[in-house]
Amino acid sequence: MSQSKPGYSDTPVLPGSKYKVHDSERPQPRIVAPGTESGQAAPGRPPSDAVVLFDGTSLAGWVRLDGSPAGWKVENGCMEVVAKTGDIKTKAEFGDCQLHVEWTPPTAITGESQGRGNSGVFMMGIYEIQVLDCYNNPTYADGTTGALYGQSPPLVNACRKPGEWQTYDIVWVGPKFDGDRLVSPAFATVFLNGVLLHHAKALIGPTTHRKIEAYRPHKPVGPLMLQDHGNPVRFRNIWYRPITDYDQG
Ligand code: MG
Repeated sequence: MSQSKPGYSDTPVLPGSKYKVHDSERPQPRIVAPGTESGQAAPGRPPSDAVVLFDGTSLAGWVRLDGSPAGWKVENGCMEVVAKTGDIKTKAEFGDCQLHVEWTPPTAITGESQGRGNSGVFMMGIYEIQVLDCYNNPTYADGTTGALYGQSPPLVNACRKPGEWQTYDIVWVGPKFDGDRLVSPAFATVFLNGVLLHHAKALIGPTTHRKIEAYRPHKPVGPLMLQDHGNPVRFRNIWYRPITDYDQG
């Protein structure tokens, strides 16, 4: 231990860092008040440093893909898909992040397979993490709830019953490009209701239906998009925290 601060100054420098092992001068991790657990009746509260994308009161931060006002409705602290009004996206654009989204499929069960409670969380507006009611609803594996759609099934099916609120916590690392060249694919880590669905799973390109698409270069930031697949899925408590390097706080 050094005199005033806990730690050491006679240890080796860590590779790729300006700090030493157990460095007493290394800044303390910043303090973030954690959010509250999400109950079924009410959404949890975001962490203190989250960027709130939907707080239950307004779609002011959301538009249709053509930029016109979002056609979904806001009621009882949720937004709900209004069929045929189209996908919506955030005006805000962001990159690597921790994303939190709560959603619930319709209580009244209609349809089957991909027709039951279908929506989607599109990272950067391009890469879909499937939203679907897969409670007693078999479908193709790579279209299951939480699938990286058309590419990777989730490790497990952790769906709650229709009408119950479900929670996605997603760690998103976007693809990296050098001009037209892909340097690194996108990686997704996804939890559904606290259960791991994907651990740093690489995407093979944009998600799509019945095809495989190659990466196309894009900006390091993009909007969050939610899908109108014709089912009245509801969403609430949507927020993200950008991933920043520890030493750059
Ligand atoms: Mg979908």
